[in-house]
Amino acid sequence: MAYDDNNIFAKILRGEIPCATLYEDEHALAFPDIRPQAPVHVLVIPKGRYESAADFNAKASPAELAGFYRAVALVARQAGVEEHGYRLICNAGPDAHQEVPHFHVHILGGHKLGRMLGPPL
Ligand code: 5GP
Repeated sequence: MAYDDNNIFAKILRGEIPCATLYEDEHALAFPDIRPQAPVHVLVIPKGRYESAADFNAKASPAELAGFYRAVALVARQAGVEEHGYRLICNAGPDAHQEVPHFHVHILGGHKLGRMLGPPL
């Protein structure tokens, strides 16, 4: 699948759609999710054009990879969830209900999140 330059996060990166920037560096941008599912719900996206986790992890440069994953940890600390814990979610593809085809990680926290998905199968 080719990267879709019209996806919503590409528009945010180009400044065409506003976001409340929480963190930004050369490799990553972080902003609150528009439909928060926890008291802290932040999205971290790489600046490069990567549609999915598989795409990013396979094709990003070492500097992009390190910069992005360090930004995720930094944003979690900055959001104040490091002490009590938080969850990172990356939805990849249709079974995981990935809505936006630009790789992103959700940081969720700020209260007890419960089990990962529900009871074991
Ligand atoms: P996915 O299901 O792809 O992992 O998650 C995409 C997330 O992007 C959803 O949680 C959704 O609420 C969020 N989202 C969609 N459009 C916007 C937007 O325009 N601004 C922000 N801040 N978040 C968005």
